[in-house]
Amino acid sequence: MESSSEQTEFEYLFKLLLIGDSGVGKSTLLLSFTSNAFEDLSPTIGVDFKIKHVTVNGKKLKLAIWDTAGQERFRTLTSSYYRGAQGIIMVYDVTRRETFTNLSDIWAKEIDLYSTNQDCIKMLVGNKVDRESERVVSKKEGIDFAREYGCLFLECSAKTRVNVEQCFEELVLKILETPSLLAEGSAGVKKNIFKEKPPESDASTSGCC
Ligand code: GDP
Repeated sequence: MESSSEQTEFEYLFKLLLIGDSGVGKSTLLLSFTSNAFEDLSPTIGVDFKIKHVTVNGKKLKLAIWDTAGQERFRTLTSSYYRGAQGIIMVYDVTRRETFTNLSDIWAKEIDLYSTNQDCIKMLVGNKVDRESERVVSKKEGIDFAREYGCLFLECSAKTRVNVEQCFEELVLKILETPSLLAEGSAGVKKNIFKEKPPESDASTSGCC
């Protein structure tokens, strides 16, 4: 996956979502992917998205990645958050078991309820593997859940950036292999509802909706 801060032309526009309990590292993961930085984030309210331009398999893509930005604490994510997403990243914290069990108890149900797209690709991500000594959810449990739920799976650390790019790359590769999602991504270019300011110092821009 190749990033670009200059790129303004793109062939496909994809909407990706991050979901999961508060504190699992969604915002940090997004920040780590879009700006390569790790910092302690104070939780904010509202739905944010960041834009990143990448080239994958020679295709120029614009990724609009949505983050709940704290809204999930109030259980008020609405159908508009899910609408039109081609990819969903379900994040849990390998050091907090309830964040893993809530994926099946809460988040998977919410996806089934609100996701408008049958073909939408899902990716299960176990974050904070840098805290190995505090791990309570094994890798095998993640693999088993992913198999049962029919999604991709990776463990990562948003802090050390281990596997962060791979999470997004594997998801995007799978989207590119899915004709209906490719067609949506191409149609999205015409709509291009994610307006952005010209990039400043890095590849990402953000907005709030
Ligand atoms: P969100 O509520 O899911 O968006 O979670 P945040 O991104 O705000 O992260 C919650 C806390 O976990 C913050 O203090 C982060 O600095 C920390 N954090 C996020 N990712 C990692 C990680 O991979 N490793 C470690 N050790 N801490 C992390």
